[in-house]
Amino acid sequence: MTKPRELIPFVDLSWQHDQIQDEMQAALTAVLSRGDFVLGQAVKELEAAFAAASGAQHGVGVGCGTDAIALGLSACGIGEGDEVLLPANTFVATLIGILRSGATPIFVDCDRETALIDLTAAEAAITPKTRAIVPVHLYGQMVSPSGLKALAERHNLLIFEDAAQAHLAQREGVTAGSIGMAAAFSFYPSKNLGAIGDGGMLLTQEALVAQTTRSLRNYGAVRKYFHTEPQGTNSRLDTLQASVLGLKLPYLREWNQARNRIAQHYDERLASLREFGIIPMRNDSGTGHVYHLYVVRITADCPLDRTALQLALEEQQIQSGIHYPVPCHLQPAFQSLGYQAGDFPMSEALSQEILSLPMFPGMTLEQADRVIDAIAQAMNSGANLPASSTVLSVK
Ligand SMILES: *Cc1c(COP(=O)(O)O)cnc(C)c1O
Repeated sequence: MTKPRELIPFVDLSWQHDQIQDEMQAALTAVLSRGDFVLGQAVKELEAAFAAASGAQHGVGVGCGTDAIALGLSACGIGEGDEVLLPANTFVATLIGILRSGATPIFVDCDRETALIDLTAAEAAITPKTRAIVPVHLYGQMVSPSGLKALAERHNLLIFEDAAQAHLAQREGVTAGSIGMAAAFSFYPSKNLGAIGDGGMLLTQEALVAQTTRSLRNYGAVRKYFHTEPQGTNSRLDTLQASVLGLKLPYLREWNQARNRIAQHYDERLASLREFGIIPMRNDSGTGHVYHLYVVRITADCPLDRTALQLALEEQQIQSGIHYPVPCHLQPAFQSLGYQAGDFPMSEALSQEILSLPMFPGMTLEQADRVIDAIAQAMNSGANLPASSTVLSVK
C-alpha cells in the first residue's frame, strides 16, 4: 500500500495565524482588559488604516460584507425605483445586498476569459432608471477603473465596488475601493484580509455617505437615542475582530504578493497543458491581481470533464472548488426576478467550466507543482478514474 500523500487544502489559514500568534493573543487580551467590545478603539484604528491603505477617505466597519453593500447603497441614496447593474456571475451576497437596499438588480453578462462584468453589455442594459453599477472585482482582479469611469460619466451612474475579494488589488495605478463613490469589503476568514469570524467595511470618498452608514449600522441613530434613519439596523464590526484585522493589515501586501507568485507559477506550468483545453483565467492587471482565487477553465477540448478531474485531484489529496456553480439569475430563490436559462450565455457557460485550484499565502511552489502534476497525470491517464467517491467540498 502506498503511503497517503499530505493533503493540499483549498485554503489553509494556519500559516497566516502562526506568524502573528503572539501578537494576536496580546491584542485580544488588550480588548478584554479595555472592555470596549462594541465600536471600540480597534474599530476606529482599523477604519482609518484600511481606508488609507486603499486610497479612500473614510472607512466604516460593519458586521459583514453583505451589510456593507446593503447599508452602503442605502447611504449613497440608492433604493426603491432605482436600477442597479451587477454581474450575473458573482457570489449571491452582491445580489442580496442590492435587494436589501430596495433597488432593482439588473444582471449583466461577463467576459468569458476574465469572468469580469462585460462593460459593453452593461452599457446596453442601461435604462432611464439606472442609477448605479456594482462591479465585482472577482477572484481578486479589478474591473478596469478607466472603463468603469468612462461608462459612469457617459450615463451619470454611481460606481459602488464590490471589493470583497480584492483587498489592496490594483489596476491602472488605482487601488480597489477608491474608484467611485463607495466600496464594500468582506473580512470573512478566507478573504485576503480575514477576521476570525465575520466582518466587513464600507469605504467611501464622501463624508456624508460615511456618516449615514455609521448611523445605519447603529440603529439609525445620529447620536445616542436619537434616530433619523428608518432602515437602521445593528451591524457593527466587532472590536475583537477589528483588533485581529489591524494586526494582519501590515502583512497584507506581502500575502497578496505571495498569492500572485503562486498564480504566476501555476500559469507557467499550465501553459504546457493548453493542448488539453485547460485555460487559466486571463490576468489583465499583472501584479495588481491579488488572486483571492486561482481559477482555470476546463473547456470542451479537455479529455476529462470537470467532475472527473476534481475526483482525480481528490484521489491525490488535493482539494478544489467551483466559484460559482450556479449563476445568480438561475438561483431558485430569485426566480421572481424573471430571468431564465439562456439570458447570460457567458456566465452560464463559465459556471459549467470553471475550477478553482488551491490558493493561499503560505502555499509552497512544490505544492503548486503537485497540483499541476496531478492534473497532467489525470490528462494522460484519460478515463481510467475512480467513480464512486464524492468530491471534497469547500466554500
Ligand atoms: C464574500 C463576498 C461577499 C459577502 O461578504 P460577507 O462578509 O460574507 O457577507 C460579497 N461579495 C462577494 C463577491 C464576496 O466574495
